Amino acid sequence: TPLNFLENENAVHTYVQVIIPQALPNSLTYRVMREHLHLAQIGVRVLVQLGNRKIVTGLVSEVHHQAPKEWQAKLVVDFLDEAPLFTQAQWRLLNWMASYYICTEGEVLNAMLPASLKLNSESFITLYADAEEQELTEAEQELLDIIGKKEPIKTFELQELLPQVNINRLLKQLSAKKCIVFSEQVKEKYVPKTIKKVGLTDKYYADSIALTEFLNQLNKAPKQQDALLTLLNETLYHPESNHLRYINKKQLTTAYGESSVKALIEKQIIQEIQVEVSRFGLIDQSEIVNQRHIELSPIQQVATTEILNAFQEKEVVLLHGITGSGKTEVYLNLIRKAIEAGTQALFILPEIALTTQILSRIKSVLGNYVALYHSRMSDAERAELYINVLEGKVPLVVGVRSALFLPFQNLSLVVVDEEHEPSYKQNDPAPRYHGRDVAIVMAKLVGAKVLLGSATPSFETYYQTQIGKWALVELKERYANAQLPTIEVIDLRPFRENKELRGSFSPPLLDLLVATKEKGLQSILFQNRRGYSPYVMCNACGEIPKCINCDVSLTQHLKQHVLRCHYCGYTEPALKACKVCGSVEINSVGFGTERIEDELSLLLPNLNIQRMDLDTTRNKGKLESIIEAVENGETDVLVGTQMVTKGFDFAKMNTVGIFDIDRMIHLPDFRAAERCFQIVMQVAGRAGRRQEQGKLLIQTNNPKQPIIHQIEAANFIDFYQEELKERERFHYPPYTRIIEISIRHEDLMVAKNAGTSFGKTLRLNLGPDKVLGPEAPSVGRIRNKFHFQILLKLEPGVINFNKVKLLIKETAKQLIIEKTHKKLQIVLNVDPL
Ligand code: ADP
Ligand code: ZN
Ligand code: ZN
Repeated sequence: TPLNFLENENAVHTYVQVIIPQALPNSLTYRVMREHLHLAQIGVRVLVQLGNRKIVTGLVSEVHHQAPKEWQAKLVVDFLDEAPLFTQAQWRLLNWMASYYICTEGEVLNAMLPASLKLNSESFITLYADAEEQELTEAEQELLDIIGKKEPIKTFELQELLPQVNINRLLKQLSAKKCIVFSEQVKEKYVPKTIKKVGLTDKYYADSIALTEFLNQLNKAPKQQDALLTLLNETLYHPESNHLRYINKKQLTTAYGESSVKALIEKQIIQEIQVEVSRFGLIDQSEIVNQRHIELSPIQQVATTEILNAFQEKEVVLLHGITGSGKTEVYLNLIRKAIEAGTQALFILPEIALTTQILSRIKSVLGNYVALYHSRMSDAERAELYINVLEGKVPLVVGVRSALFLPFQNLSLVVVDEEHEPSYKQNDPAPRYHGRDVAIVMAKLVGAKVLLGSATPSFETYYQTQIGKWALVELKERYANAQLPTIEVIDLRPFRENKELRGSFSPPLLDLLVATKEKGLQSILFQNRRGYSPYVMCNACGEIPKCINCDVSLTQHLKQHVLRCHYCGYTEPALKACKVCGSVEINSVGFGTERIEDELSLLLPNLNIQRMDLDTTRNKGKLESIIEAVENGETDVLVGTQMVTKGFDFAKMNTVGIFDIDRMIHLPDFRAAERCFQIVMQVAGRAGRRQEQGKLLIQTNNPKQPIIHQIEAANFIDFYQEELKERERFHYPPYTRIIEISIRHEDLMVAKNAGTSFGKTLRLNLGPDKVLGPEAPSVGRIRNKFHFQILLKLEPGVINFNKVKLLIKETAKQLIIEKTHKKLQIVLNVDPL
């Protein structure tokens, strides 16, 4: 801008530090133009230019007068907000997350801001205004003609028009010949929702005589006349008194047609205006209407009092309540108390647990207060909720982990339901954070209390209550005298020897399914694997088809006639014959949910079976319709993966069958036993939640394994005590904290050498006993990259985490800049699951 030249070289300029929501290592310095000075404050968004072209949104983290020493700071293109979008607590959370999870502030900001609040420019191509005559090739001329007709146009749009052509090369040539220019334009992503209203124009609004005259003239156009009369009626028009001026345009157009309304507008008797409306409807802060009254049972009452007392002293309370004990009712009661005290509450759940079932329960109690926040909402809806929360308009947010990043003003309670759920952990991209842990830090920053709830708490959480850091409150009975299901373990081996197995089913399981149906009750069959079979194998030569990108076998999906990689999504058509030897005898080995469904429909054709897994719920509304079919009793058997364990409350669910438990037990993971226990208890918890006691049946090849006994005893505390000894002996969490370093490269040797070198540096600095690896993980190649893993097991209190993290960061930086390590990827995961 010309301002640059007018300003005194030595004048003191104002600069802002800007965090860009990307993986840049640092914030960037930009200079503020004089006319923007009054807008420069911490927490507002700015548009700035990155490099030569791209304009991106950033957040101002600092305002100062220090010119960068080594380069000339660019100017801020524009300021987007007049008031900060970020609260003090959010800033501190951002800093904490970047430091704890060893990532950049930009990456954290990217997670914290809803997409619609992050505007980016897009490149458009237009004709160069003063282009001179140029010698052009035929291809160049053709492209230039298209640009002339369609400008401004984006590169990818040109590519779509001319799929055969190398657009980028041609554009470069045209740009060099000064025929076209690239320009950056920023599109507002978050557009408030508006509706059109109509009302009398100023002239007729003020002049009732003219209005009457006009009405009479409309005799020849009865539709228009009726439309106008309706408008006057609806707005309670009266010349001498106040009346509403506008009604929804739609109301008139639906009744009298677009054209008559248009005619009235053209005749300038009515006018149209745009009004901003909320996408959520108004959140009514006054009375709760239609509320369901919660009558807590005596033991729920006691638990509630205990929780409230514990909050006097502790920041965090774990509510350990068996499945069906009514934890949800306890949460809702506490949330209502928080709201009635004039404060805000946040209720977070794992993504897939956030179904209409739980929502309608929450709404029946707290209907008017609830705002939702989850990934199925549109970007615009999420941005709007962000702004509503910032303005203090929202008393209760029910959402997934990203709801933790909303700008709460007055939060007093955070409830984390099913706190043991591994899906609270974000694995990709950075920040690789755990929703529960961030909830605790965030709550502390804003002075709120945290209630964690689970029937099967994570070891990390339970441990905190045992060492007295957090409080523990228990609910040991199911609501309304319902009983936990009985447990029966079925040894598959004798049935196999006697050839009595029917596919994956033992006779007792089949009998139980029939008996359940005869009582008018329902069953769940749980298998932690989707697809038909985890692999197929040629009978003649033993060939097993593998993914071309990953070191895993392809899972067979029979209905879709494909083989699919569950790591990268690579898909091949189903095999007709072996690719190696040509044999057509291809065996399906092992079984997933699709096969269980398939077998059962042949074995017991009278049962109505539904399957719930990633494959059957991908389309919008599918999950809800499966839940509905179970709720209204259409479904006899629900076959599913872990999805079926997620907090469902079905009145007639009575039987649970578990397949393939041995595989879960033997997964190469120190948490395998914990997970197995949790999953079985959770899925069992769906059974017999009302009158009739339910039944859990577990099929295994080895009933003598200790974990099976522990599951039979169904005693979390005993299990926890036993398992904890192992954790202590082998230095695993909760006694240590783990940092996982994953080193990835397309070239096996590059990945391996970089891993070895990383490991060496860490061992040298931390001592050999703290560092495990590098090792190839069980799937050593994913998406064409070889993986090597280093695990650090660090004891809190003994180790200075900040020093370790600095060491990791520095070592990673050194490795990445080495020439031989081009494209080396280093992924850091703190507290991996
Ligand atoms: P949890 O979350 O501990 O598994 P829920 O909160 O889902 O248990 O409660 C189990 C069932 O018992 C639900 O159907 C719930 O509506 C019912 N229930 C629990 N407590 C109450 C209560 N105080 N009043 C009425 N119904 C209750
Ligand atoms: Zn073969
Ligand atoms: Zn793959």
